[in-house]
Parts: sequence; C-alpha cells; structure tokens
Amino acid sequence: MRKIVIAGNWKMFKTQAESLEFLKGFLPSLGETPQDREVVLCVPFTDLSVFSKSLHGSRIQLGAQNIHWEGSGAYTGEISGPMLTEIGVRYVIVGHSERRQYFGETDHTVNLRLKAAQKFGLTPILCVGETKQQRDALETESLIINQLEKDLVDIDQENLVIAYEPIWAIGTGDTCETKEANRVIGIIRNQLTNPNVPIQYGGSVKPNNIDEIMAQREIDGVLVGGASLEPASFARLVNYK
Ligand code: PGA
Repeated sequence: MRKIVIAGNWKMFKTQAESLEFLKGFLPSLGETPQDREVVLCVPFTDLSVFSKSLHGSRIQLGAQNIHWEGSGAYTGEISGPMLTEIGVRYVIVGHSERRQYFGETDHTVNLRLKAAQKFGLTPILCVGETKQQRDALETESLIINQLEKDLVDIDQENLVIAYEPIWAIGTGDTCETKEANRVIGIIRNQLTNPNVPIQYGGSVKPNNIDEIMAQREIDGVLVGGASLEPASFARLVNYK
C-alpha cells in the first residue's frame, strides 16, 4: 500500500503571526480528514518553532524547505538535519525547481542533501520536473530519468517521497493535464527499485482540480504552493473526495 501525502510548500510566505492565524482557521478542518492521509506543511525556517509548539496533538507533520548536507559547520545561511529534527521536523523538500533555478542547486548537491535528510532521520520530498522548453522538445522523459539517476545515487528508497513538478505548471495556473501527469509519474515509478515510494504531483494544484488529480491511479498525493496558504483552500485539498 502506498502512502498518500498531501504537502503544502509555503515558500517564502508567512510571518510567525500569520502562521498562527492560518492554524486557527485550518486545524478544525482536519477533523474531516481520513486517517490514511499524511498532511504535511513545509514552512519557512522561522515559522518552524511556532509550528512545533502549536502542533501537539494535531496530525500535521512538520516539514522544512531545505537541509544542508553536513550536521554542522561553517556554512553561512544554511540549516542542518539535527537542527530540524530537534524541533520536530519530519519532512524536508529537496531539489525544488526554484532552488535549482535561483540558488545553483545541482543534481550533485541534491543528492548530498537527500543523503543528509535520511541520515538525520527526515523523509525527503525530492522534486523533479521539466521546463516548458524541454517539454516542447519532447525531452520530458529523458530529462526526468536523468534527474532520477543522478539524484538517487545511494539513496534509500524506503524513506523517500518524490514530487513530479513540471516547472511550467508551478505558480502559473497552467496545470499539467491529469492523464499526462499520471503517465509521467508512471515513468518515474518504473525507474524506482521500491514500488511503494509515494509519488506526488505538483504545479497549480487547486480546490477545483484536486479531486481529478487524486483520482489518477499513479498519483499518491500533491505538493502545493499557492493553494496551501489559505486555510479554506488547503482544507479542501486535504479533504479531497
Ligand atoms: P504552486 O507551487 O502550487 O503554487 O504551483 C507548487 C510548488 O512549487 O511546489
């Protein structure tokens, strides 16, 4: 049985006060959420402590948006695995396209960060996906296979989530057609040695398309940016039908 993981990625949004406001609106809606769905919120580093204090007894799992590959060291601006686990963080996004595009993240550093996440007891959510240009050039499949080959070197597939995020669909309102997302996720699954790795879709997931996305056979969850910022819309996503 593959786990269902519904994860929000807040990116660089929300102060601590805004996080508390969100939780006030969102937590009651979890009463309706089936128990077999894992609900994860990957919030900015500064919000993690607010969450770790406010989430006791709630079923939200706390996630970070990045992790360094060392446990400690002279790495200005970075955060390590032990710092995250100490405050109750369980998941961490690794290799998001915004990190690859704006912060020089490469398949090599993604691989190092994945290893660190697992070494320190976190579950990494590895993001892969193609640009519009690569899609138009019919390179989606080869690009993704290449990313997986490099990113997953020596990675334990027992403790891993993968998110297929076509870059052209992120924050654009331009969702990948659900059958196509299902097809690409099937290709990703074929590359894995563990058939039970949960594979999410990400890219303009909204209340009006979540039911159709989650009805696809290969799709085990979603990684959501914009629509995870509002209590009512994230509630609709975790309570998809
Ligand atoms: P979006 O972002 O839902 O706002 O498109 C998804 C993501 O970047 O993970």
